[in-house]
Amino acid sequence: MGAPIIEARGLRKSYGDFEALKGIDLIVRAGEVFCLLGPNGAGKTTTVEILEGHRDYDAGEVRVLGRDPQQHERALKARVGIVLQSAGVERFLTVEEAIELFRGYYPHPRPLDEILRIVGLEEKRESLIRRLSGGQVRRLDLALALAGDPDLLFLDEPTSGFDPSARRDAWEMIAGLRDLGKTVLLTTHYMDEAERLSDRLAVIADGRIVAEGTVASLRKQQAGTLISFRAPPPGILDGLDSRRLQDGRVTIETDEPTRILHQLTSRAASADLELEELRVAPTSLEDIYLKLTATEKAGE
Ligand code: ATP
Repeated sequence: MGAPIIEARGLRKSYGDFEALKGIDLIVRAGEVFCLLGPNGAGKTTTVEILEGHRDYDAGEVRVLGRDPQQHERALKARVGIVLQSAGVERFLTVEEAIELFRGYYPHPRPLDEILRIVGLEEKRESLIRRLSGGQVRRLDLALALAGDPDLLFLDEPTSGFDPSARRDAWEMIAGLRDLGKTVLLTTHYMDEAERLSDRLAVIADGRIVAEGTVASLRKQQAGTLISFRAPPPGILDGLDSRRLQDGRVTIETDEPTRILHQLTSRAASADLELEELRVAPTSLEDIYLKLTATEKAGE
């Protein structure tokens, strides 16, 4: 395991009377892609902005590359790359000019050609930014964050608004950053993105971390199989631990799918009933996420 690059303990932040972070503990290690997931308003942006040094915190301890981001040291800024949702560079510059401008801010910039290659903008190097497509602008945002050859990169919802093929390209780029030895902290609302990219992830809900680990370890904490079907008449579910979803389906989470299915299907068959829209599937990260965040809501 790599050395800790980000360490937060008991991190708290309030906006007036509202406590947005209620004690966050987080460790991100060197070379990891770490995903922060959570519903709207959970506290992801607040957490990330504190780690970036863009927001002060009220209590707890934070170290990023061994330093406190609240001290706003130049030495830390030079080692951190931040990809914002819109970089706000002058749109009459060319791609190359914008990257060169950013390279000028850093003591040890990454070579221009390498940056263009990593983000796949070699052919657009002389294009004006205002002529780029949305996906290409996002690539440029990443290029600008890479200008200083940072050790740590923060990506805020890096693929929001992308079409499916642009998302795949972005995933490849992010996986490429890991291959370069960078540490990446990214926020996302897409479960498939987290599943695909993250070495580890944390789910944050209502200002607290409600789950943390690898996708595999989170799966292990939950039942491995999800059986679901349209709500059946009474009797079929007797004695089974089931949940009724908002859309009228019933789900059963189980580690014994064969036994449970046998019970269900034999009850249904003897009553001459069909289990409508029957589905049996391994528990997905999305199922786990919905369960974790629903529990939080229920506990409010
Ligand atoms: P999203 O997924 O919608 O971006 P998030 O997880 O990033 O959400 P935050 O932006 O960190 O959530 O916000 C956490 C909570 O703090 C929210 O309830 C939000 O309304 C509140 N909040 C955030 N910034 C401020 C602010 N400047 N002043 C007051 N309240 C704020």
